[in-house]
Amino acid sequence: MVHNETSTGVTSNIAAVRRAIDAAKHPALLLVDTISGLASADYRHDEWGVDVSISGSQKGLMLPPGISFNALSVKAIEASKTAKLPKSFWAWDEIIEMNKTGYWPSTPNTNLLYGLNEACDMLLEHGLDVVLARHLRWAEGVRAAVRAWGLQIQCADPAVYSPILTGVMMPEGVDADAVRKIIYERFDCSLGTGLGKVKGRMFRIGHLGDSNDLTLMAALSGCEMGLKLAGVRLAGSGVLAAMDHFASHPVSLPRSPAMDAAAPTPTRVVLT
Ligand SMILES: *Cc1c(COP(=O)(O)O)cnc(C)c1O
Repeated sequence: MVHNETSTGVTSNIAAVRRAIDAAKHPALLLVDTISGLASADYRHDEWGVDVSISGSQKGLMLPPGISFNALSVKAIEASKTAKLPKSFWAWDEIIEMNKTGYWPSTPNTNLLYGLNEACDMLLEHGLDVVLARHLRWAEGVRAAVRAWGLQIQCADPAVYSPILTGVMMPEGVDADAVRKIIYERFDCSLGTGLGKVKGRMFRIGHLGDSNDLTLMAALSGCEMGLKLAGVRLAGSGVLAAMDHFASHPVSLPRSPAMDAAAPTPTRVVLT
């Protein structure tokens, strides 16, 4: 399963699928791709009974691409021992053995490991609950903009909206890639293309990782100007709607004691 579907802006209910597998007494292992979901949307490998979680450095962990990691259940490790599937790259035994002493079977991507250490510090300094709330808030602001434009959000069911990105559907007859091209060339803002069946029908606005209200406002401004230049008739200003949303929803979330205990004390620079 995919935790957060990055091509459409839709999340999956992982825990519900686990319950369904268990209710059917099916032996299948539950493998979850949380490449874009991890550290941007709530994710619980152990609690949800996931067997193999797959993630990478390049999305919510705010790093360049280059390292990927798995979290494994005991059941998955057991299954891998008897699996007949020929494997080398995907064989876990060697890395599990060497990781016990902090080593790797091959040369690790040291630069990215240092970066990952820093990214984890950043996330824990804020508190993971604050980081997740921040993404939900950004997503709501972007959706407020899309609604004000009078455009459709690709994800039809509000219960599974992605906190990580929003797919924006174009009206009939408008080529989404032509709109993206204008926004890119005129305003230096790169948006995600529609993939597969929705190619040319939608574009994607990302709102994850090391961002803030103002960079997101800049992206929405680029979108609004580009949509107008492309001749798309807008119902109203998404930029104003998003500004209203961000201004009227200050970030305020109590830090959980658990996160405080886990997080190092943030260093503060005081200017006198
Ligand atoms: C980005 C992404 C991928 C692709 O990861 P690669 O490291 O490029 O293979 C796969 N799945 C999801 C959900 C993603 O967001």
